[in-house]
Amino acid sequence: MENKLFVHNSLSRKKELFEPMDPPHVGMYVCGPTVYGDGHLGHARPAITFDLVYRYLIHLGYKVRYIRNITDVGHLEGDADAGEDKIGKKARLEHLEPMEVVQYYTNRYHRNMDQMNVLHPSIEPHASGHVIEQIEMTKKILESGYAYEVNGSVYFDIKKYSQDHKYGILSGRNVDELLAYTRELEGQEEKKNSVDFALWKKATPGHIMRWPSPWSDGYPGWHIECSAMGTKYLGEQFDIHGGGLDLLFPHHESEIAQSVAANGKQPVKYWLHNNMVTINGQKMGKSLGNAVSLNDFFSGDHKLLDQAYSPMTIRFFLLQAHYRSTVDFSNEALKASEKGLKKLLQAAETLQKIKPAETSTVKISALKENCYKAMNDDFNSPVLIAHLFEGVKIINAVNDGKEQISETDLEQLKVIFKTFVFEILGLQSEEQASDTDEMVDSLMNTILSIRQQARENKDYATSDKIRDELGKLNIRIMDTKDGAEWEH
Ligand code: ZN
Repeated sequence: MENKLFVHNSLSRKKELFEPMDPPHVGMYVCGPTVYGDGHLGHARPAITFDLVYRYLIHLGYKVRYIRNITDVGHLEGDADAGEDKIGKKARLEHLEPMEVVQYYTNRYHRNMDQMNVLHPSIEPHASGHVIEQIEMTKKILESGYAYEVNGSVYFDIKKYSQDHKYGILSGRNVDELLAYTRELEGQEEKKNSVDFALWKKATPGHIMRWPSPWSDGYPGWHIECSAMGTKYLGEQFDIHGGGLDLLFPHHESEIAQSVAANGKQPVKYWLHNNMVTINGQKMGKSLGNAVSLNDFFSGDHKLLDQAYSPMTIRFFLLQAHYRSTVDFSNEALKASEKGLKKLLQAAETLQKIKPAETSTVKISALKENCYKAMNDDFNSPVLIAHLFEGVKIINAVNDGKEQISETDLEQLKVIFKTFVFEILGLQSEEQASDTDEMVDSLMNTILSIRQQARENKDYATSDKIRDELGKLNIRIMDTKDGAEWEH
């Protein structure tokens, strides 16, 4: 790789040259959503940030194994060790199986990610599918002496750990201050120190999601899932771990402690964190009651929204800020993004129609280099976008006959736009997106008419097979008196 990529490592708090441990292979783990509600801008941000990272690493020629998990157990209300499971609570309130809640919101999350052209991860492991691995890792931590069992629950022993290792290397928190802060929380008296966190919790009688373990019928703590799944799929040490800044402490700090306690090694070489989305300067979150779901943005149906915003507008809006800066949501900012995106995509279209001249009156030689420079500087998408707009200016000037461009320069400009606008920023024109929709519509019409024909011929084996196969793709057919309708 001739490109020198620098990434900001939260562990060293500075930019470092990116050197994977086993090139060209790169292992990347990103904390995915807890699936108990619709995703909002705060969920879109890590997905789009690490999509940018993933796309750029692939562009540079790396073979990336990208793991993005689904949290479907163990994430309790208030992000602490006590309280009800977020998914269990939703299931109880809506009289559903917890896995029904998980499936429903996972499907909606996937649809939102596809709408925003977010590439699928290589593996998307569910925490509930890796309880055995979490139990095994908890056993190892117990064996190493950095955890203790009490009343069927297992807790990580921060005090013991910090005698041999440094707890707080990622967040910079002082362990003595943490230990001195002996807040008494209801139901937590069994912990030696309130800062200790659960690796395994004994389930109370009303707790729905539970598994057998050597200690009790219970469920894993929230932090252990990512350590267990990261180790399983990427090894005891891997290159990149990403997630939102809100996960840095205690979630990621605890992941480091768990892995060091179980495997005796620092698990991750580069920790990357995206900053938060704010709304009028306040953190956006479901619990704060100011979260606008992605589906609300796409439909415009929310009291905070003046209009609907396309999935590509949301993607572009987030990419217009560097991932380590906060993004403040406002209708004005989104409308500006909508306009900017339109201008960029229109120029990309115009570029295809431009006729070359004998010589160039424009300079594009530095443009490509500058685009790479921006991406190599810790994935600086706003600077990249500013350079692409220099390209937009050139395209429009040539199109208006004010400047001219040679064939070589024109080809170069086309490569720049194809590479950076579409491959790396992952932008799509509304047409490209709706072309796909239209194609799906016409394919479905074809399939349904074949099925209708089969029914008229009383060939029910074929018509049932079509219905069943579509069912596997989550497509439901409803027979009506005029034929059939479908929904995904
Ligand atoms: Zn995680």
